[in-house]
Amino acid sequence: MCTEDQPCYKTFSFRVKDAKGLVVLGNGVNTVWNYANEVSGKSAQRGRRWVTKKQLRDLTKGSSKELGLPSQVIQEVIDEFIDKRAQAGKPRLRWRASRGPRRALGWIPFTNQDIEIEGSVVSLRGRKFRLWKHRQIDGRIKSGNFSQDARGRWYCNIVCEVARSTTNRTAVVGFDLGHKTLAKGSDGTELEQARFYRDMEKKLADAERRGKTRLVKTINAKVKNRRKDTFHKFTREVVDRSGAVFVGNISSAWQVASGNGKATHDASWSMLRSFFGYKCDHAGVAFAEVNEAYTTQTCSCCKALTRPKGEQDLDIRQWTCCECGAEHDRDRNAATNIARLGCEALGLQWPRSPSVHAGEASRSVPGHPHDTAAKCIRRY
Ligand SMILES: [Zn+2]
Repeated sequence: MCTEDQPCYKTFSFRVKDAKGLVVLGNGVNTVWNYANEVSGKSAQRGRRWVTKKQLRDLTKGSSKELGLPSQVIQEVIDEFIDKRAQAGKPRLRWRASRGPRRALGWIPFTNQDIEIEGSVVSLRGRKFRLWKHRQIDGRIKSGNFSQDARGRWYCNIVCEVARSTTNRTAVVGFDLGHKTLAKGSDGTELEQARFYRDMEKKLADAERRGKTRLVKTINAKVKNRRKDTFHKFTREVVDRSGAVFVGNISSAWQVASGNGKATHDASWSMLRSFFGYKCDHAGVAFAEVNEAYTTQTCSCCKALTRPKGEQDLDIRQWTCCECGAEHDRDRNAATNIARLGCEALGLQWPRSPSVHAGEASRSVPGHPHDTAAKCIRRY
């Protein structure tokens, strides 16, 4: 997540049409990675100082021709290895196998200096690959990679620095995430229950039983694509008409532990939240995750904890507040509370009139919502 003065990045992914040459390059990358891994592991056995980036670069000098890899790519692999090693805090990482059942999915990193794009052809240091270029690239190219998915398809992912836009929209919307409806908005919008996986479950089990590996992979990819497509469309539509978006911080891990595994797996709340997060960021829309504790029990009109708690009430969708008499839809009430809490957290003024559900917040803090938003956003 970037703040106001940090640049904003966008990744463009294109499927590669003729990926034959990439497999060889990918194997070369694995060789470099495994070599760095081995040297690093040995250096740690010998003494306290692990092999450095510079030493690895010197050691791999001149290997470009034999590996069939551009020397810049070799450097990129080493840089990435050093970064991952620092993250993991250990000298030796996992090997990148080029074949066999534990084969690593292909990956070839590059920087903006290594590639040139002309129309739908990308050339990596002189090697040309054709892409299915379904959209235009905007912004300044920074870096990227070629990557392979479980089905063996290759993609070219290009990371670009883009300008962050701003908005003067004032509509505030909160979302309560759940099982029955995947997301229920404080303005009444909703994303229906997710059945991407469960709709395909029978087919998948059948394919697995018959040992159809390819079909299993295809079905899994289909489930994933459908989910992503639905989420992209939903979040785009919401972000394009809002000035601030808030979502509850419901945790998948906790839900799985409490026996809602399948439904939770299908819901992928974290994916939905991350789509909201980066889309809001690019559009200059305020965004935050809100602690959803008590948001279902609190009356969004009078803020009293009037909804009875307990297991037996889980199915109650409608309830009436015994303090102020307001009638509530369970999820929409929670979403309204989330929107209010989000406004409070970011210093935006939540409308006091109890009848307003859609939420038109006026900003008590002058200036761009991001000034305050950035401080409160939780990293994901
Ligand atoms: Zn009330």
